[in-house]
Amino acid sequence: MLKSYYEILNICENASKDEIKKQFKKLVKMYHPDINSSLEAENIFKEINKAAEILLDDEKRKNYDKLRNTNKEVYNKKPHQNYKTSESSGYSFYDIFKKTENKKTKKPKKGSDITVNVEIDYQEALLGTYRSVNIAKSSICPKCLGKKFANGQKCSYCNGLGEKTLNKKITVKIPPKIKDKTKLRLKQEGSEGEFNGQPGDLYIVVNITKKDDLTVKDGIVYNEVEISPYTAVLGGNIKVPTLWGEAVIKIPPLTKSNQSFKLIDVGVLNEKTNKKGEQITKVIIQIPSEISNDEYKLYEKLKEINSKKKNAQSI
Ligand SMILES: [Zn+2]
Repeated sequence: MLKSYYEILNICENASKDEIKKQFKKLVKMYHPDINSSLEAENIFKEINKAAEILLDDEKRKNYDKLRNTNKEVYNKKPHQNYKTSESSGYSFYDIFKKTENKKTKKPKKGSDITVNVEIDYQEALLGTYRSVNIAKSSICPKCLGKKFANGQKCSYCNGLGEKTLNKKITVKIPPKIKDKTKLRLKQEGSEGEFNGQPGDLYIVVNITKKDDLTVKDGIVYNEVEISPYTAVLGGNIKVPTLWGEAVIKIPPLTKSNQSFKLIDVGVLNEKTNKKGEQITKVIIQIPSEISNDEYKLYEKLKEINSKKKNAQSI
């Protein structure tokens, strides 16, 4: 003869909910597949799950008792037919039971925060931009829902850890006029919380990087560019990088190395006046590392002319 749910849990028929819970927990400790791997234990574990599921639900228990008392004959032949249990869903009732117990007994814990660094250039900092970040965050395992086992077996998806590391791509809007090292907070985009706790936050640290070796100091932009010896001597137009793209400097003839040029309206934007500031560009005469025969001859010619000039002066 099949046992009643009371018999399965080894409790009296008027047992209180607390008594049922206590007894159920005690039996789980003996027959849970993580503890006891025998086939017999597996079957008992299934039975105690069914019994607890019915007896811990007021409505189900009432119906069950009514059915037993009104027609014991029928009940004894087909006792559990009318009771759908959670077993078919792939989770034992104990999984659900434990989750509810955890909710009641454990305080919600906020998930951990995640910090990610992004690099933007000066122009992006001024005008605002977007950056996509890939973050790896730990989340409750979607298969076992953090219970570490499914179908009475260790969850294969999370390997029994109850959590999975998920990669997520998040696009962040970086507002205009942002300052270097600003921390942007994206609420609840961090790691998931525990026991119904809120997720942590995601912090984006915005770093403004130098562009094309431009240095900004006290609101003035500084840089250095190389020019050829003949540009230095003959003069000419050269292209120089600025915060806003390339600008052209007119190099006058006989420019010396380390000579500085001031460019206006290409520097830092003044937010109040909406005018761009200055850039100081220093030119460095660059001697070529290789020259052709023709060039060599020309340099010799220059030397010759120069020494004649000196001789003429000394006479
Ligand atoms: Zn899992």
